[in-house]
Amino acid sequence: MTDRINIKNLSPSQIAAAVAEMGEQRHRTRQIMQWIWQKGAASFNEMTSLSLDLRARLGERFRIPEMQVAGSVSSVSDGSQKFLLECEDGAVVEAVLMEARGIYTLCVSSQVGCPLACTFCRTGVGGFERDLATGEILDQILYFRLNHIPPRRRFNIVFMGMGDPLLNTANVFPALEILNHQDGFALREKRITVSTIGFPGHIRELESSGLRAGLAVSLNAVDDGMRKRLMPTAAGIDETLAAAEDYAISRNMRTTLEYVLIAGVNDSPEDARGLATLTSSRPFKINIIPFNEWDGCGLKRPGEETIDRFIKILLPSAPAVTVRRSQGGDICAACGQLRANRGEYGL
Ligand code: SF4
Repeated sequence: MTDRINIKNLSPSQIAAAVAEMGEQRHRTRQIMQWIWQKGAASFNEMTSLSLDLRARLGERFRIPEMQVAGSVSSVSDGSQKFLLECEDGAVVEAVLMEARGIYTLCVSSQVGCPLACTFCRTGVGGFERDLATGEILDQILYFRLNHIPPRRRFNIVFMGMGDPLLNTANVFPALEILNHQDGFALREKRITVSTIGFPGHIRELESSGLRAGLAVSLNAVDDGMRKRLMPTAAGIDETLAAAEDYAISRNMRTTLEYVLIAGVNDSPEDARGLATLTSSRPFKINIIPFNEWDGCGLKRPGEETIDRFIKILLPSAPAVTVRRSQGGDICAACGQLRANRGEYGL
């Protein structure tokens, strides 16, 4: 049984190759993908548009596992929900469901933990276990779509959960292909955001892949010294912004630059002026995220006055500035707060 392949890990072309190898017609690929990713079939027996013989043969070669929900908590302040999802090997990740004015946003994980150890991030200090497989990345989205989002309602996906998606391109790129695919989730670039600390080489790989996704890069500092202090593995600012700019031009959409605003660290008027200079007249959107405090981290969120001063300096010349008042702060579901700690779920 365990030798059977998890079909959720296969890209559309790999499913097509398997279908051809089994001597089946090409349209079977479309049907199989639709059963898995659109109808949420949990077994081949449910795939009633396939012959009994094909269902049996698929079942001999493949399996369709599902991630299990180990726990969930809801925010009393804004209704966002954080879920602990368990993989077949017992590894757990967190994913967050947010809803505002009827629009759903799913924040999904791409790795179990994160190896990058950004000093302000609760995921980073928790260490790294492994990459998520393609099927495990997509299962988070499938779970929400089938169980929490009304049929035909639009939703957005942000790869801002545990891990950096561009460190796991082997699994994230096939997942993006299925998210884009007409027989998968049929989502266009405006609905998907890949958020990374910015590996210029991987950004360029994403650019040349033709996959359709928006890009968000965590900048968090206006000089390389501070950027390295906050994100020890981050590349230099100039080459990161050059790759982010080229990506924006290639997709004809702005790249988001995220800037976590931390009291006394990167929130000075000089920092704001530096950010304005770096970004002026370039195809970026700037998203200011006041730091979400968490137990055990000495960093602090700036006061509202400091946040307002920072924004006012940016506004005249920096492109498209927004402030993200994160949801889920009271359940540690906000940006940089995920840890996949079973204790938080009473387990
Ligand atoms: S901020 Fe992102 S990249 Fe940095 S440690 Fe946290 S999850 Fe990893």
